[in-house]
Order: sequence, then structure tokens, then C-alpha cells
Amino acid sequence: MRLSRYFLPILKETPKEAEIVSHRLMLRAGMLRQQSAGIYSWLPMGKKVLDKVGQIVREEQDRSGAIEIMMPTIQSADLWRESGRYDDYGKEMLRITDRHERDMLYGPTNEEMVTDIFRSYVRSYRDLPLNLYHIQWKFRDEVRPRFGVMRGREFLMKDAYSFDVDQEGARRAYNKMFVAYLRTFERLGLQAIPMKADSGPIGGDMTHEFIVLASTGESAVFLDKELLDTPVPGADTDFDADLSPIVTAWTSKYAATEEMHDEAAFAALPDERKVTARGIEVGHIFYFGTKYSEPMGAKVAGPDGTERPVHMGSYGIGVSRLVAGLIEASHDDAGIIWPDSVAPFDVGLVNLKVGDAATDAACEDLLAKLEAAGKDVLYDDTDGRAGAKFATMDLIGLPWQLIVGPKGLADGMVELKRRASGERETLSIESALARLT
Ligand code: ATP
Ligand code: MG
Ligand code: MG
Ligand code: MG
Repeated sequence: MRLSRYFLPILKETPKEAEIVSHRLMLRAGMLRQQSAGIYSWLPMGKKVLDKVGQIVREEQDRSGAIEIMMPTIQSADLWRESGRYDDYGKEMLRITDRHERDMLYGPTNEEMVTDIFRSYVRSYRDLPLNLYHIQWKFRDEVRPRFGVMRGREFLMKDAYSFDVDQEGARRAYNKMFVAYLRTFERLGLQAIPMKADSGPIGGDMTHEFIVLASTGESAVFLDKELLDTPVPGADTDFDADLSPIVTAWTSKYAATEEMHDEAAFAALPDERKVTARGIEVGHIFYFGTKYSEPMGAKVAGPDGTERPVHMGSYGIGVSRLVAGLIEASHDDAGIIWPDSVAPFDVGLVNLKVGDAATDAACEDLLAKLEAAGKDVLYDDTDGRAGAKFATMDLIGLPWQLIVGPKGLADGMVELKRRASGERETLSIESALARLT
């Protein structure tokens, strides 16, 4: 992609409405445009990152055996009347009336709808286990939308729903999602710690929030330092095997948000293992048994032929919130530092003297070769000052900057900068290409 033909509306000024660094950087780097409170347009570079995050989430859901579907954003109020949540949900639900005066709503979550799909088709325990997910926009009319896409009103969520014949099956489904989440966040370059969450009237130990540590997190968190070194299961994990040892390794050590914090249990840890920090909720998994299947009549026949309500769990990941979370976790004074796995482009190619025949030719050649090798390149072919170009590249945070100017080229050399470390190296065109491909 040539910058001269791209749409990258960089802001010079720091927007004053943005209170946290990710929001400031997303606006400055031209990723985002606020349309109303908590409602955003994703500009090209923001959209690229959002898609990459969504794709990693998808791949790990698929790997764990979940199956992708797509449910609509607009739902009928009648479904929510069946579960009793239409009245309970309160003001966070955006309620809409259509031209026939039917009550509709913009979905804040999809338990009711997916339960309706399930009950329409599945009759027997033989069709289980089943886990259906989608990646779809949600709307919650948050009292205080803030921090950009971190707490939006319209936001992108991955939500999965598991169906099992009994609680034992549901625990296996839960463990699969638990492991899939560990893998997802690691692939995103994030350290997310599962922390026990409030199970409310359902009770039990099967609900965890996945929390990324960041100073701007909305919740105080308390954890055992050893969790920071607990290994994340590899891509070769067998999701049909018993995953409980992995889950136990993560859940037997202390980790809680302020809501669930147990001062006495935390105090029992040796001082050097006590970590107090702030955190961002990026995912939440929850077993809720027959809470929806019972009132909505989602039943399967068991091996003995008797029908019983199916056991369900739901599993959310805040895809759009993660984009902001990634920036909170990885930036410096100059701008964003994207992890390789979600960077909007792999390489920023900087032409220091547009119009100089040799420099232009070298850049064109590098662009062609990098693209042929499958690299996504943003080529700064604009007629700007070197300083401004470097500042833009640092701001947008691409993992590599390849800098090409007439002086270096005279000796056949270019410069390669790694954004994360700031390390710069002068090397031949061939070595630079070898390094990047
Ligand atoms: P929070 O405690 O931040 O309000 P929640 O517990 O209400 O989140 P869940 O119902 O658990 O959210 O939804 C699953 C995931 O969706 C959350 O873990 C979070 O990552 C994301 N999410 C929830 N609300 C928002 C929002 N307003 N903006 C962006 N992402 C959100
Ligand atoms: Mg909430
Ligand atoms: Mg929460
Ligand atoms: Mg939650």
C-alpha cells in the first residue's frame, strides 16, 4: 500500500477528550472516528487491526472445536420475554420499535437467540457436545461510555455458547474455552490472567474473567506472581484430552479482581509473590447450567430416553476492546508498538527522497520483493520531511521500518529499525530483505 493513495488521517494535536493513552493513540494514528458517545467508525488502519484480532480469536475458537455462525444484531423482544430478561436487563438494553409496533432490541448478548436456534434443531444427547460462536457487534447503553473502544456502547464481541447433556460435559466445554482463551491472548502478545469471577445465583467455580494487567485498567487486581510464569498450552494441545490439569495449574493460585478479593487468602501468600495491579477485562467465561434452557424449553433426550434441559455456558471476548488493550499494554512516548501478530502492516518502507530516481527505484524494487514474499508493506512515498515521516512511522507502530535514502544507497545500504527495541541497523539491501522475509 502506498501512503499517497491510502487513507491515514493522522492528527497532529492530541485530542483533549481522550483520557487514556490507547484512546489518544488510536485517534492520533487515524484508526478511529467517534460518531456519537461510545459509537465509532473504524478507519482503514483500525479496521485492519480489528480484523487481525478477530481472526486470531476465530482460529483459536475453531481449534478448540467451536463452530462459527452469525446471528443478527437486532433481536425480537419476545425471545427475551421467554427467559425473563426483557424486563430485568434494564437501561443497558437499547429497545427499538419497528413499523408494526413490534418490540425489538439491539442485542447486548445472545443467550436467548442461540438457545432458540438450539431448541429448533437438536433433540438428542448424541448431537452433543456442541459449541456455537459468532463475532458480532453488540450494543449496551453504558452509563459511562469512555476510554474510546475500551468501553464503547457499540462494540465487537466474540461470544460462544456451549451445550452439554450434563454438568460434567459442561465442565469439559468450559475447560476447552479456558485453554482456547489462554492461547488466544498469548497469540495476541498479551498476558491475560484468568481470575475467578462472581457466579451470582448460579454458584460454583465455573466462571473466570481474563484480565490483562495495565495501569489504566478499571479494576484493581490481586494475584500470585507465579501466575505470570505459568506456561500457556501450545498449538498441539489435544482438545479432546482431559484439560483439567491445565485449568487447575491456572486456578489453584490466587488471582482475583477487587469484586472477588479475599484479603485473608491473599495475605497468606509470601510477600514476594503478592502482586497488586490494575487490570482490563478482555474475556469472560461462564457456566450457567439450565438458566435459559429450562424456561425456553431447550431439551435433549438422554441415553435413557428421558428429556432434560441442556447445560449451557457462555464465553465472551471483547474483540474491539482488545485493540485498545493491546495499545495500553504496548506503547511508548512516540506511539503504538504493535505485536507482529496483529500489526496493521508488517513493514513501513520510508523513502527519504521522493523524486530522486535512484531512491524511488530502490523503494519500488523493495516494495515489489517484500510483497512477493507475502509481506504487507506501507510505503511512505509522500513528499514529506524525514523527521515527520519517522514520527508517523513511530506513531502507527509497525514492527519494522525500512529506511531508504540517497546517501546510504550510494554505498548500497539501507537502514532497518525495529520499532519495539528502537534498534537501528545499517545493512545491504539483500541482508535487509533476508531479515524481513
Ligand atoms: P465490563 O465489566 O467491562 O462492563 P462485562 O462483564 O459487562 O464487561 P461481559 O458481559 O462479560 O462484559 O462481556 C464479554 C466481554 O465483552 C467482556 O469481557 C469485555 O471484554 C467485552 N465488553 C463488555 N462490555 C464492553 C463495552 N462496553 N465495550 C467494549 N467491550 C466490552
Ligand atoms: Mg458491563
Ligand atoms: Mg465485568
Ligand atoms: Mg464480564
